[in-house]
Amino acid sequence: MHEFSIAQQIVDVVFRTAQENEAQLIERVVVVIGELTLLSEEQVRFWLQEFFSHKPISREACVEIIVQPALIRCSHCGFEGAPPCPGPEAHFLLPILACPRCGQSGVTIKEGRECLVKKITVKK
Ligand SMILES: [Zn+2]
Repeated sequence: MHEFSIAQQIVDVVFRTAQENEAQLIERVVVVIGELTLLSEEQVRFWLQEFFSHKPISREACVEIIVQPALIRCSHCGFEGAPPCPGPEAHFLLPILACPRCGQSGVTIKEGRECLVKKITVKK
């Protein structure tokens, strides 16, 4: 049910933003989910559409989800790129992040952990 609470937070942001902008209708919501959040894109979409369908302002909203691929940087050798093989189990196991070049574990995650509302299109 992790996706449920994430979707709830996203919906809060969307409604707050719509209100601040005196929107009459929310047309499109673009959400970015990092690969390393281990969130299910389908689940998030499902809950967003579920929440949006209950309010007239967002009933027609089109939900777009962008999955942000992971990007890591190694502080030992300077490698920057995708983490080693997340594999099909990535949604169940937290990937152990070691540098694919030098094998050290001191890598920094630069991208892939975010979950945010990127864009909201409204009609006033
Ligand atoms: Zn390295």
